[in-house]
Amino acid sequence: MKTVALSIGHSPQDGGSVTTNRKYSEYGFWKLHIGRVKAELERLGYKAVVCNRSEAGGKTPLFAARRCNEIGADLAVEFHFNGADTGIGGTETLHWYSSKNGKKAAQLIQTAMCEVLRLPDRGLKPVRYKDDRGYYYFKETDMPALMLEPAFASSHVTDCDRLETRIDELCLAIARAIDEYFKQA
Ligand SMILES: [Zn+2]
Repeated sequence: MKTVALSIGHSPQDGGSVTTNRKYSEYGFWKLHIGRVKAELERLGYKAVVCNRSEAGGKTPLFAARRCNEIGADLAVEFHFNGADTGIGGTETLHWYSSKNGKKAAQLIQTAMCEVLRLPDRGLKPVRYKDDRGYYYFKETDMPALMLEPAFASSHVTDCDRLETRIDELCLAIARAIDEYFKQA
């Protein structure tokens, strides 16, 4: 049975950015909804483990990698939402620049998220350099790893609204894209 680590971004102490409607931090939002991804993966025959970097004793992406490695996951997916002060919006997915399978999983999930949210498709964001987002998460994970940024929910009102109103559908679509990845692998 394949194992998927569903890593909630940031931590209970440092929730990350906050939705435009001030209702949720990144951590709080995904803590509330990630069970739906887990349930669908389990229905499809996977072991899905919800986890967080704080369980490995730290607040940085390196600890998220350590936790995913401890779980022995075949794929690690970390859940976030985006923010910018330039008014941009849309959906993007980060992967390690040299991981072929990471890129493949990223493409499948990116497509699935775009189909549900119908926000601008900002594409895949390869992570390679120390200044890139989540560098140590991608560098230290033993398995293909992704970070999902489905919407600019902390800075764009439309993105926030879309993420909230379509979250159930989004969770199902992400789980099914993960299933598709393993079927193709
Ligand atoms: Zn984040």
